[in-house]
Amino acid sequence: MKEQLLLLVELQECDSQLVKILGKKKTLPDKIDKLDEAFRIFQKEIEQNKRKYDEVKIRHVECENKIKKINEGMIKTKERLLEVKNNKEYQAMLKENETAEVTRGDVETAIITILDELEKLSVLVKKDQAILDEQRKKYEEEKRLIEADLDSIDTDFVSWEQKRMELKGKVPADLLVRYERIKKSNNGVGVISVWKAICNGCHMNIPPQLYNELQKTSELIACPNCHRIMYYENRERTA
Ligand SMILES: [Zn+2]
Repeated sequence: MKEQLLLLVELQECDSQLVKILGKKKTLPDKIDKLDEAFRIFQKEIEQNKRKYDEVKIRHVECENKIKKINEGMIKTKERLLEVKNNKEYQAMLKENETAEVTRGDVETAIITILDELEKLSVLVKKDQAILDEQRKKYEEEKRLIEADLDSIDTDFVSWEQKRMELKGKVPADLLVRYERIKKSNNGVGVISVWKAICNGCHMNIPPQLYNELQKTSELIACPNCHRIMYYENRERTA
């Protein structure tokens, strides 16, 4: 390839890389935010069973406390029973004790159900935890990669910018003006590869004669359609 064209191709690579890097600098932090948010939602969703387990656990403690209170009340009733003065009072206390026993029985039944529920939930919680751990690993790995990418951006930018300045110094001024002008009106691409007679910028066919000329000449040829400076690239050889 002609030296000037080669310089332009390299310059184009620098320009394209710089655009890409600036784009990344804008989009990567958003990508991280989205990743964080997605994981947060996933975690909240999957921790439903855990929250339920905690609720039932609180109910269990409450029931145990209720039983403790009932037992204490029953002991007191028994103590008072010793000081009873008449039959009416005695009957009332027996009734009180009976009621307490029934209530205690109800609470004990409730506890059995609660323990059953806790057992089932703890199996689910364990499964969920394993899934969450797996997901967390994926999330953290993905985030680490994006952060590493983000970290390298500034260094990359400086080195591509430096290379660009060096190349600009080597390209003849009038050619540089031409390149910048074409680039500006063509979405940042002023130099484009052509393979199998198709311009890779506008995807139009290059007339056969021009395509032949492109492969032989040392002149700079523009795409008849998008006006980008073309260069022939044998993709079979580079692939
Ligand atoms: Zn074109």
